[in-house]
Amino acid sequence: MTSPAADMAPTQVATSDVAIVTGGTRGIGEAVVRRLITEGRTVVASYVQNNTAASALVADLADAPGSLTVVQADVANEADVLRIFAAADELGVVTSVVNNAGLIFPIGRLADFDAARIERTMAVNVTGLLLCCREAVRRMSTESTGHGGSIVNVSSRAASFGSPNDFIDYAASKGAVDTATIGLATEVAREGIRVNAVRPGLIDTDIHADAGFPDRVFALGDKVPMGRHGTADEVAATITWLLSDESSYVTGALLDVGGGR
Ligand code: NAP
Repeated sequence: MTSPAADMAPTQVATSDVAIVTGGTRGIGEAVVRRLITEGRTVVASYVQNNTAASALVADLADAPGSLTVVQADVANEADVLRIFAAADELGVVTSVVNNAGLIFPIGRLADFDAARIERTMAVNVTGLLLCCREAVRRMSTESTGHGGSIVNVSSRAASFGSPNDFIDYAASKGAVDTATIGLATEVAREGIRVNAVRPGLIDTDIHADAGFPDRVFALGDKVPMGRHGTADEVAATITWLLSDESSYVTGALLDVGGGR
């Protein structure tokens, strides 16, 4: 399925402000999309391979106030990133970008990781995010023809912990996300663009199954100071606040959403 598929056409006529959410058809990204659509926003959500989840979300939101277009695209592929933004350009002006797409490989020790795993982790979690940031800035900057906007990068508390014995490669990729967020926020602060990161802790999504530990949030939730894991919607609430004008003086922030951990 390529962008935007005929059977996944927008459910309503587009408005002028467009939000892009990468990895927006499952987990945290899906929760962000649901909030934005409920607000009546025009949203482009990308995903990489799970057509079933994407189709189900489009069907579920068919009668919602906003409009949803889904685009199959690998954010590690530059041409695919350009397709995501081209789909958004057709609908209006991109003012919100949530760089949420990310992946994790099975838990292990660095000594056992091969180059392909490390390269794929960096390609999706870092290169893909940087390419999406680049396309966002090109459209939003008041130094060119843009009218400003808000970029939210989805990092992880793993960036602080380093995830020893779990996934150091993933943690390192999220450290890069934090650094890029700080740098870009400063670079474009006078161009009408705010750039922030959220750093989720232990959140109940399918990503833990990809890490080979589907029950992770239930096994480890008690170790979180608040005594429980978080939900995708709790992260989404923070992300949509960062997209909104309610956070108009917040940029370059790395906001932990981890229940105190
Ligand atoms: P998830 O439920 O596994 O969903 C991941 C989403 O990203 C899916 O829509 C997936 O598409 C998409 N995706 C994966 N690789 C992609 C690629 N190469 N190109 C485009 N899209 C891609 O994961 P999640 O837990 O919601 O995670 C979302 C973000 O939060 C990630 O950046 C993750 O690192 C971060 N995070 C999560 C947690 C947590 O505990 N859940 C904690 C800290 C940070 P398909 O549906 O097609 O597979």
